[in-house]
Amino acid sequence: MPLRLPLTQEQPRAALAQRLRDELLTTAGDLYTAEDERLRCVACAHRCLIARDAAGACGVRFNHSGVLRVPFGYVARRYLRAIETNTVFHVRPGARALTFGMYGCDLRCPYCHNHRISQALRDGADDEQPCSISAQALVEEALAQGARVLCAAYNEPMISAEWTRHVFELARANGLRTALISDGHTTPEALRYMRPHTDVFRVDLKAHTEASYKKLGGRLQPVLDGIARARALGFWVEVVTLVVPGINHDQRTLAEVGGYLRDISPEIPWHLNGFVPRYRLAASQPTCSLLPTPAAGAAYVEGSKFVYVGNVAACKELAHTRCPECHTVLIRRHDYRTIGATLRDGACSSCAAPLPGLWT
Ligand code: SF4
Repeated sequence: MPLRLPLTQEQPRAALAQRLRDELLTTAGDLYTAEDERLRCVACAHRCLIARDAAGACGVRFNHSGVLRVPFGYVARRYLRAIETNTVFHVRPGARALTFGMYGCDLRCPYCHNHRISQALRDGADDEQPCSISAQALVEEALAQGARVLCAAYNEPMISAEWTRHVFELARANGLRTALISDGHTTPEALRYMRPHTDVFRVDLKAHTEASYKKLGGRLQPVLDGIARARALGFWVEVVTLVVPGINHDQRTLAEVGGYLRDISPEIPWHLNGFVPRYRLAASQPTCSLLPTPAAGAAYVEGSKFVYVGNVAACKELAHTRCPECHTVLIRRHDYRTIGATLRDGACSSCAAPLPGLWT
């Protein structure tokens, strides 16, 4: 039986919210505790305290008669693409990755690439529908298509942690690497919950101040803590900063972000990606090619070992992986595809220095 919600005047949004509360598309969650009649969700850093019959800030986890119901058994989108298109460069270069996404998000970034699903419950978009699927079918599809990695992305995968973990457990048992493509606005509980079945934590570090993060609906400190904790737990971590005019586009800001990462580890690959105008920032200018390149150079000078620039036509050389010891180019990329690799057993083919990553 569907779990009924009162319909509001905003029909598309209400209809999608109601559909996503169908018991066939949800299950009882793991990541919460009960506080009287209310439930404390710990799947993301908001730690929502959810009253009976209400939903958390993400819109997809809700208190149904004292039980937290959470997304399960569907995907909103799935695509087979090279792993590099998820801005993951140190994991099985050139591998195919089946990437799936769900609905909802804990943040509300005005430039989201995937707002049709991530913000659908806020904006009322109804042009995509959830597709019921089992974990078994999803993993079999990945294997049949030659994927070597399964990624959860497009919206924030931690708000569907129970489903993602279930899929990843089966994927790992079948030899696939598993990757969370996350906003990193997470909790220790959620990271510990995901770690046994997850290899990669690819994080967006979107801004350098709490004030900037507040505009996106989140907080900076949990993201920084999440990056450090994920490293300590043994996830392979890569970090992306989308360089967005008006949010984080000046050199001082980017230098600070690079400094945060170096303080955690200079070996964390840091991707500075150019912004393409879309969604609520559709009228903005794209990232100027003069912005990420000097920021990448400065990060190298300060000690970062792997800094990449993407989505900036004038800066194709910074898509390659170089040995941090002898500077030999070891992995060449073009347009988010690996076009040549000379790594030998995870080490430089020239000087034998080991390179961090999940290469095989
Ligand atoms: S995932 Fe985050 S936003 Fe959603 S209910 Fe849980 S704490 Fe709230």
